[in-house]
Amino acid sequence: MDKSQLLVRAKPYYKPNQLLELEHAIDVATVAHAHQKRKSGEPYINHPMAVADILVSWGMDIDSVIAGILHDTVEDTEISLDQIENLFGHDVAFLVDGVTKVSQARAGMQNLENYLPRTKDNLSKLLIAVGQDIRVIIIKLADRLHNMSTLQYMSREKQLKIARETLEVFAPMADRLGMGRVRVELEELAFSYLNPPEYKRLKGLLKKKLGKSTRKLGEVKLEVEAELKKYGLKAEVNGRVKSVYSLFKKLAKVSGEIDNIYDLMALRIIVDKKEDCYLVLGILHDLYQPMINRIKDYIAIPKPNGYQSLHTTVITRNKQIVEFQIRTYDMHEFAERGLAASFHYNEQKTTKGYTEKRHSSTLPSNMQWITQMQEVVTKLKNDEEISPDQLNVDLFGNRIFVHSPKGDIYNLPEGALPLDFAYLVHSDIAKHAYSFRVNGMIHPFDKPLQNGDIVEVITRKLSLPKQDWKDLVTTTHARNKLRTQLGQHDISSIYNSVKNIIYTKANPRKK
Ligand code: MN
Repeated sequence: MDKSQLLVRAKPYYKPNQLLELEHAIDVATVAHAHQKRKSGEPYINHPMAVADILVSWGMDIDSVIAGILHDTVEDTEISLDQIENLFGHDVAFLVDGVTKVSQARAGMQNLENYLPRTKDNLSKLLIAVGQDIRVIIIKLADRLHNMSTLQYMSREKQLKIARETLEVFAPMADRLGMGRVRVELEELAFSYLNPPEYKRLKGLLKKKLGKSTRKLGEVKLEVEAELKKYGLKAEVNGRVKSVYSLFKKLAKVSGEIDNIYDLMALRIIVDKKEDCYLVLGILHDLYQPMINRIKDYIAIPKPNGYQSLHTTVITRNKQIVEFQIRTYDMHEFAERGLAASFHYNEQKTTKGYTEKRHSSTLPSNMQWITQMQEVVTKLKNDEEISPDQLNVDLFGNRIFVHSPKGDIYNLPEGALPLDFAYLVHSDIAKHAYSFRVNGMIHPFDKPLQNGDIVEVITRKLSLPKQDWKDLVTTTHARNKLRTQLGQHDISSIYNSVKNIIYTKANPRKK
């Protein structure tokens, strides 16, 4: 990828003055990196060019693309941040600075053995610190994606280190941003380096299995297309193949038996409108026998990363088990590109609102972790004290949805306990929690909740928080509330026991 190629690729998406600025950035970076080479022996400038090209393909705004070109200059060349600010403005400089900080902090963590177990945490703290602007993370993901695609030139030791970090930190990060395609690309590359024999074996296995079912699935596809046409529905039907790494993870869950996996290949149906998704679901269930417990409405209840689709698994007439994913074009776009989609070239307004810190209104409301992260960042900026708990934002864990008996939906981290739910509903309800009923059955305080549970908090006016509840909450929110309540409770219990002593002394015969 050289300068003219990149400019040709960028041309359709940016204004002439923006392209001039991009060209200027390429010239500056080319001179700055002039005598450096990549491990592959290529000129160094090829790397930032490739990163910028990835950012163009993700549809990022011009500032991100320019920052992509310049992302290694402050760290690796003579160029200073001030120079970048003078030449390309505050926003670009801010982004370059953020990306530099992420790399520096990583470079600072030298000792491999000591550092890896803590990577997740340190890096997430760091990303929170630089993450006032999510674009920093997106540029970092583009950087990592290109580095992963040129990993063959590194030593085996470095390959393993980088691949592990990619799998543990960057792929989950892409997932949190809803960038499904990037997540899969990172996972596949990382897994192929971490466990080459297993990667090869599973890839072969997948190919063999798919060879058999592809023809049959082709028939199903034709049948479905014909049926949708009868209803006058315009729809695009495509096959999607499971990635090697997700097959690896799934196999671990079904004790290694590939025949127990029903979504090796799924059919994806893309339609114009949301209503059509439900119509398609109805048509499919009329045509084939749906499998119980395999119908998921991620449209009404999106995944925490914003993913939306209807999922259903059916048994076709020739007894084939087929998973369908039904979504609109907008949902499809988001599932593939995630948050990057909100910086789209044509939506410079969004970017502007974003940089003006009003961006939470433009982000999907179900991305709660971003709001959580913003709160921490605001505190950091105002030099307010932050407890280690607060930094432990649930960036990486999976999340579950549970219901109140009234049907309200609450979103909790996986492994959450009943008290976490109670504190999420209201701290006064949690305060008087006496017992729990889950799906109608009495449920112990120390047993984790499951996705879809209906949770009822049974309260008693006289029941109060106890010290041992500290081991019965898992979320930061519940822990903070409980701490406050125990503080008050301690005082009131001292007060009560004093009152009791006085009372007992005054009335010696009464118990
Ligand atoms: Mn780089």
